[in-house]
Amino acid sequence: MTQESTSVLLIYTGGTIGMIENPETGALENFNFEQLQKHVPELAGFHFRIDSFQFDPPRDSSDMDPNAWRELVKIISDNYNEYNGFVILHGTDTMAFTASALSFMLEGLDKAVILTGSQLPIGVLRTDGKENLMTSIEIAAARNEEGKALIPEVCIFFENHLMRGNRTTKLNAENFNAFRSFNYPALATAGIHIKYNQVIRNYSKREDRDLKPHYLLDTNIAILKIFPGLQENVVAATLAVPGLKAVVLETYGSGNAPRKEWFIRLLCEASSKGIVIVNITQCSAGAVEMERYETGYQLLQAGVVSGHDSTTESAITKLMFLLGHGLSTEEVRKRMGVSIAGEMTVG
Ligand code: ASP
Repeated sequence: MTQESTSVLLIYTGGTIGMIENPETGALENFNFEQLQKHVPELAGFHFRIDSFQFDPPRDSSDMDPNAWRELVKIISDNYNEYNGFVILHGTDTMAFTASALSFMLEGLDKAVILTGSQLPIGVLRTDGKENLMTSIEIAAARNEEGKALIPEVCIFFENHLMRGNRTTKLNAENFNAFRSFNYPALATAGIHIKYNQVIRNYSKREDRDLKPHYLLDTNIAILKIFPGLQENVVAATLAVPGLKAVVLETYGSGNAPRKEWFIRLLCEASSKGIVIVNITQCSAGAVEMERYETGYQLLQAGVVSGHDSTTESAITKLMFLLGHGLSTEEVRKRMGVSIAGEMTVG
């Protein structure tokens, strides 16, 4: 396997990394991939093929949605045999959602799909975009002795850390170190060398994996974040939304919620109507353990299922994926408790 035989596809969706300041308004606006390349002449230093694909127009990641995820899945699937790895340039705001969604939609993935971006545009002197881009390309191209991708999964690379995509959350709107994977160790860290974490295995068996792209997603989902003072009419209205199929319930600590009679009653009624309610902790790290306190146990009795140590981004996109496949309520509840793309620590 030679350098020349290596190839990486760079998919530019938009985001700060490819933005430029409008001289009149001062606002950051998208610019195109050719302009972006001009600011990174170092790309020519890679002695392998790097092709690009650009979203037209590029978009701020606040405008990413399931259709954009489908487009990404299609691009990767159409070009899967042509390239050793894929790098997606993406805005940071919703990068963790896109990474989580792709991890479910790209079943059987055996190549690296690395999402990256930056906090400062690539044309700015102190940009973090160049490092992020260059290292992501190197990781996407990395192969083992057998010629297989070293990182056969969807990841986010940001500020020297390679993280499993569906374990990652954006936690800082200003620092270069903007992402964290609280409940799962980094897959690699970049310093003078890129050090891959040898202990971490991919979440599924590698032999004879074929990519199975998925496009079906159902977005009839809501997030309900509890807080002291949450009103009955707000919860009732949320759970009564026509067509609602699932709710991510963001609870306190290890999965606890108020013991108010109306709250438990509303959850019970929703569950028995077939709405899947998944318990995710508001804490950044740690897992839901509903058996631990009475305030959690009552949720279990109301039919709420545990999201274990999933991120909200992962729980939401996993629900979209499972519901999109038309599974029964019981089947969705069951699969929310099983890791399908390394998104949670169970058993
Ligand atoms: N608003 C931008 C985006 O997410 C922020 C960024 O890229 O960092 O597209």
